[in-house]
Amino acid sequence: MKREILIVEDNPIHTRLIEMTLRTKNYTLLKATSGEEALDIATRERPDLILMDLNLPDTTGFKVTKKLKENPSLSHTLIIAITAYAMRGDRERVIESGCDAYLTKPIDTRELPKVIAEMLLQRDKISGKQHRG
Ligand code: MN
Repeated sequence: MKREILIVEDNPIHTRLIEMTLRTKNYTLLKATSGEEALDIATRERPDLILMDLNLPDTTGFKVTKKLKENPSLSHTLIIAITAYAMRGDRERVIESGCDAYLTKPIDTRELPKVIAEMLLQRDKISGKQHRG
């Protein structure tokens, strides 16, 4: 089954970089440029994983993540927070909001696909275990 990844990012240059990084990986890529659009697409498409820019024009990625994690049908969606700045306390805020992982800009184009593949694999293992019993 082809995996769906939602890229939430208001900067088209960053979006294109992520798209190029994942181009060869056989994922279906969805895009949102605001928090509202992210919630809309996530609810409709239920992607496997979301790359969440924390600085959005209408809200923060923290708030969008919180809303997604509060929705029972979306609470298992993997969310990787991506932020331009690594402020003291940011990591804590990221974890607190429910993000599953945290990466800083500039995006490491070698690291990102590895992190995504590893997280999807881990999730498959966990859901496999749950279904075995
Ligand atoms: Mn941004």
